[in-house]
Amino acid sequence: MMKEEPEKAPIKVAVFSSKKWVLDSFSEVNKDFNFELSYFESRMYEKTVPLAKGFDAICVFVNDSLQAPVIEMLKENGVKLIALRCAGFNNVDVKKAYEKGIGVVRVPAYSPYAVAEHTLGLILSLNRKFHKAYSRVRDGNFALDGLLGFDLNEKTVGVIGTGKIGQIFINLVKGFNCKVLAYDKFPNKKLEEDGLEYVGLQELYANSDVISLHCPLNHETYHIINDYAISSMKDNVMIVNTSRGKLIDSVAVINGLKSGKVGYLGLDVYEEEEKLFFEDLSETVIQDDQFVRLQTFPNVLITSHQAFFTREAVNNIAQTTFSNIKEYLETGKSENELINA
Ligand code: NAD
Repeated sequence: MMKEEPEKAPIKVAVFSSKKWVLDSFSEVNKDFNFELSYFESRMYEKTVPLAKGFDAICVFVNDSLQAPVIEMLKENGVKLIALRCAGFNNVDVKKAYEKGIGVVRVPAYSPYAVAEHTLGLILSLNRKFHKAYSRVRDGNFALDGLLGFDLNEKTVGVIGTGKIGQIFINLVKGFNCKVLAYDKFPNKKLEEDGLEYVGLQELYANSDVISLHCPLNHETYHIINDYAISSMKDNVMIVNTSRGKLIDSVAVINGLKSGKVGYLGLDVYEEEEKLFFEDLSETVIQDDQFVRLQTFPNVLITSHQAFFTREAVNNIAQTTFSNIKEYLETGKSENELINA
């Protein structure tokens, strides 16, 4: 008689920072994977690590904080894998994780179009003030004063970071007949051959009407937009950040807005967003004075880290995250491991 294979225990995954959209998309995609999923609304940080006990993998997002002490505790709790359901990994001490024998996987690209298109949306809204026009017209105020914009046609757009998102964004603004100046620590030869003009940062600052950030956050890019950078820019410049909050020194940009040097600011990310974004704080007194100050400017438009948030991206996030977890836990490696990043 054939011996029956013992049934494999399901892979247990704890999903942190879970909101309704995470639960909906992950549960749907899990029909193909059959993981044992537990959803936790809270962020992963020192206080919430005990929740990870007994799970094979934890799944985390942009505002979970996995520095060395958290990694140590994950190891003690038996976690084998950290699965980031995002591209950026500045919030994880990857070196420490590997020292402890914990793998780290991510979703390197889920929809660069989503982020590039949202960036363009911020630019158009800041310029043509759709958000103000919408409320005005609903209030029966049909006056145009205060809504004056400018033609994007022939303006110069400076793009810092010409990776997946930066390249799509460049194509979008080229469609508006903008001139593009690009800066990247590792310029892309192919793009250069195709006519993209790479310049130094100072030249980009001095000549751009709009500056858009598409580089990762690391020790070199932390506060890349600081007092000095802003002082090198054109008067009335538009700065847009859909990459990571800490690329911009908030105090410097507030000073730039107060002096009028910065004419427009579009943010989808903010330095201290962990304490704010993704939560409904409408009944709460916000304690972050810098954030509140930013909101008082008429020429600042902030969205709460939603640039990625399209149907296509959310589905890709769930699919790739689960494939990464399955591949890593079954084979001990994954093509989306950060060791390969
Ligand atoms: P990518 O890795 O494809 O491109 C990043 C580019 O930045 C690369 O060309 C790289 O050479 C360049 N770069 C690296 N170090 C640099 C430096 N010191 N100075 C200038 N350029 C440098 O990444 P991507 O998919 O295009 O994503 C870009 C960033 O967008 C991510 O790091 C992430 O932080 C952010 N992002 C935000 C959202 C959102 O919802 N707001 C979603 C996804 C990604």
